[in-house]
Amino acid sequence: MTVSRRMVVAGGSVAAIGGMAWRASAADTSTAADTSADIVFYGGPIVTMTDAQPTPEAVAVKNGKIVAVGAASDIRAKWVGSRTRIIDLGGKTLMPGFIDAHGHFVNAPRIVNWANVSLRPVGTVEKIPDIIGLLQENKAAQNIPDDGWVIGYGYDGSGLSDKREMTRHDLDAAFPNNLVMAIHVSNHGGVLNTAALRHFKITAETPDPDNGVITREPNSREPAGLLMEGPFIAVFEQMPQPDEATKLELLKPAQQMYASKGVTTAQEGATLADELAFLRTAGEQSRLYLDVVSLPLATDVPAIFKSYLDTDYNGKPVVIGDPSSEFGHYKNRVKLGGIKLIFDGSPQGKTAYWTKPLLTGGPSNEPEWVGMPAVPAAIIDPVYAGLTKQKIQVWSHANGDAAIDMVIAAADGAGVKAADDRRHVVIHSQCMRPDQLDSYARLGLSPSFFTAHVFFWGDVHLANLGLERASFISPMNSASAKDIRFSNHNDFMVTPVDPMLMVWTAVARQTKDGVVLGPDERADRMTALKAVTIVPAWQYREEATKGSIEVGKLADLVILDRNPLEVPVDDIRHIKVVQTFKEGSTIYPLPPTAPQKKSGANDTFPGFRRRDAQARTLFADDGSGSVIGCACCDGSLTGLTQAAVLKALTELASSPLLS
Ligand SMILES: [Zn+2]
Ligand SMILES: [Zn+2]
Repeated sequence: MTVSRRMVVAGGSVAAIGGMAWRASAADTSTAADTSADIVFYGGPIVTMTDAQPTPEAVAVKNGKIVAVGAASDIRAKWVGSRTRIIDLGGKTLMPGFIDAHGHFVNAPRIVNWANVSLRPVGTVEKIPDIIGLLQENKAAQNIPDDGWVIGYGYDGSGLSDKREMTRHDLDAAFPNNLVMAIHVSNHGGVLNTAALRHFKITAETPDPDNGVITREPNSREPAGLLMEGPFIAVFEQMPQPDEATKLELLKPAQQMYASKGVTTAQEGATLADELAFLRTAGEQSRLYLDVVSLPLATDVPAIFKSYLDTDYNGKPVVIGDPSSEFGHYKNRVKLGGIKLIFDGSPQGKTAYWTKPLLTGGPSNEPEWVGMPAVPAAIIDPVYAGLTKQKIQVWSHANGDAAIDMVIAAADGAGVKAADDRRHVVIHSQCMRPDQLDSYARLGLSPSFFTAHVFFWGDVHLANLGLERASFISPMNSASAKDIRFSNHNDFMVTPVDPMLMVWTAVARQTKDGVVLGPDERADRMTALKAVTIVPAWQYREEATKGSIEVGKLADLVILDRNPLEVPVDDIRHIKVVQTFKEGSTIYPLPPTAPQKKSGANDTFPGFRRRDAQARTLFADDGSGSVIGCACCDGSLTGLTQAAVLKALTELASSPLLS
């Protein structure tokens, strides 16, 4: 889908089209017509994210770019013509569009048509009837027939005011015929209704599995509804998959999810070969209106370059000319931004890798638990060195301080130096030690922090790590003190796409229980905003075109209902996006389209990350695999066995691509 001029106008109703007086007083609209701006913004705070011109009065946009920033009188005189659309901000705030520093865009079309049955504040759920209501709304909104699938995600029985898990009977009353599944927030389980349990032949006679749980009704072997781990994943494996056309169609609401939060550049932060093919197809069909930065997962790089460079990789080495030329350029809104490496798992899942033991033991109460690396240094170091040699940007997932030590050692071994301006990013960099910031500064490594973790899992980190270590999670102020540039991310769908929630977590560092975790690391607002605008633009090497409101940059802009620099701290997270522009075109809100009638039974289903049978196991060796969600950042390795990962990385390191 292309964003047309018609949409710009049709979608432009939110910010008042005002300023007849403004236009009438323009110096000479007749002669200015040819050179006049397409849009002029004025009448509210303009937060440019630049130090030179922090708060101008007006901004002019022409041909998708910012052509003037400055005093209202100057812009009125030079840029307003008869065809100029004048947007009176009416006191609302204009900012550069937000740049997703790390997340998993391909999950958006997978879940966007499901019901979000998350607890507050991610969703709206407090009690079981809320979940039923949301599922019913979803069925109606999606025109799901009475025998089709109704799916919810984000279910968490532990926080319901009912003080119990939802059961099949809760669902049956509202859904006697539909197949219903409420997927657990961990993505490792779900509650099914009776029809769905029958569909998958899960009955009183089904034996208890050794790789998970079928919860049973009291004093009975009848399944209660909730399946966890093995049995749930077995169910998932049997879900019907959508066809390509359905998946492509789902990209529209998926991108709206981002645009509705002011995001104009999204990241696909661990891309598999088939997912990149999908994004390329979407781009070729002009279905993308966001820019999408793809970071191919290292293990899939041989397959990706086979697909796109038409080489004959088939157990044979990849041969391409200048690999760096394949990276760093948008083609139909998709850009390869570098390669993704995974060094460890997740802190809350206890699959990260630390130098000192957790205070609470391992996932199965193992004493002296320090977690483990995802891949041995001997395997991953040559890949890091090869990518560096080929001038390909490396994006490393590392959460625990021992994994971060591994990244530092790999960068050191690869000869990385700050002066070389590699901008290798260490995604998460959560459990850092102060001394590691010096190494980052020396090597020019740039962290992408994850302050939303402080809110969502801060209380868990406090228990696991103790006060001192937990307080240094995502240490923004300590990094700033060493002139280290850092971004901040949501890691969708580990946490929701929500830059304002992210900015609030960086500024407030408040846990769910209300503890201020690491008060010394609470960032100032401007720093927190830069971490979702100009710094991720810099990490993408797009700082010349994005991340601030400056002449010559793309008109990727967002209007917020309140000014994040002015509202009380606790209101930052409640700031709403009024309108979002990509290159001067309104991408949120979009004009409504007629609802499409579903034909017959709902036999397609927004899909899941799946692999071929040989490569796939249900869990990574650390036991924390996941069928949807962040394939790396929750600790799994996209369903590959450890042996398959090691083999793929070893082949990659020795391929002509990196040697
Ligand atoms: Zn990650
Ligand atoms: Zn991630």
